[in-house]
Amino acid sequence: MAELAKRMSAIEASGIRRIFDLAANLENPVNLSIGQPDFDVPEPLKEKAVEAMRLGKNAYTQTQGGPELRAALKNGPLKGYADDQILVTGAVSGGLILAYMALLNPGDEILLPDPYFVMYKQLALMFDAKPVFYDTYPDWKPDPAKVEALITPRTRAILLDSPSNPTGAVYSREELAAIAEMIERRNLVAVSDEIYEAFCFDAPFASLREIAPERTVSLGGFSKSHAMTGWRVGWAAGPANIIQAMTKLQQFSFVCAPTPFQYAAAAALEYGMEDHIASYRKKRDLLYNGLIDAGYEVVKPAGAFYAFPKTPWGAGGEFVGECVKNNLLCIPGNCFSERDTHFRLVFAAKDETIEQGIEILRRLKKGK
Ligand code: PLP
Repeated sequence: MAELAKRMSAIEASGIRRIFDLAANLENPVNLSIGQPDFDVPEPLKEKAVEAMRLGKNAYTQTQGGPELRAALKNGPLKGYADDQILVTGAVSGGLILAYMALLNPGDEILLPDPYFVMYKQLALMFDAKPVFYDTYPDWKPDPAKVEALITPRTRAILLDSPSNPTGAVYSREELAAIAEMIERRNLVAVSDEIYEAFCFDAPFASLREIAPERTVSLGGFSKSHAMTGWRVGWAAGPANIIQAMTKLQQFSFVCAPTPFQYAAAAALEYGMEDHIASYRKKRDLLYNGLIDAGYEVVKPAGAFYAFPKTPWGAGGEFVGECVKNNLLCIPGNCFSERDTHFRLVFAAKDETIEQGIEILRRLKKGK
């Protein structure tokens, strides 16, 4: 068998896959494990993609993205950014890869939230950087003083994730300002994953890109807001030297984001998703109230479509094993954390699925 590169032994397979293996035999599981919207791309946006294909918009765009989407971004979420500060990416995953590659030397440290989105840690390992975790237990908010205590001469960057996967936490403008002050003083760069920007239920979205634009690489996209997870379109915006480095890297890797879907994404920026967001706020309430009523310890998610309750007994892995035996699919906390005390539930699901999930959890609260 051919020998693989050393980096392959540093990267861990996603624990989420283990759950799907466990679940393979379930016939009709109550599935609260899938981290994507349960609605489809709106029809007019599908039409845009089809129209673009029919018009022959199927060739490469420029690496930095086609003019239509770039113009729409500049008129929308990226108002005030110069041309050399914007890059259209292969969704946020693509943006994350490019940002890590542009910013981190082997041995450099990147501060990551714990709990974290699975890619953050594995990408650091992939690029020989060291993931250093700032703990946000139990309220899922970073404490700037605790984060600062982790900084060493090798610390280059900090990753922020608001609204957060897996906790649903949303940072307020004041909380972000306190972190921005520390970033400024300690000469760090922030990578701000803003993929769940549209899913803020209790207060308007606040972004580090407005507070510290000269130190923030923001990453956003259309996968969650418009259910385009398979279309692979997103954007990066930030200091020109970093965005230009990422553009150079994209030239030799992803080349460009898929052309017809860039057209659809430009139209998406003008397509209101308020009804979906309002319905997800109700689903958030349904899940949260159900969990509280069933006696679970959980922070009310203010955004995204996740809740991260504490297990009532046992480690995350053990408790989720029992959930799966009882036909409920969810993900143990250690897939997103260095600890294994919680589990992740997704409320991007039908109301009746959420209700069935709560009923199973109510029974399991009492023990095996
Ligand atoms: N960032 C977070 C926090 C996510 O939850 C996800 C997907 O689940 C991504 C990034 C990747 O999204 P994309 O489809 O834009 O690559």
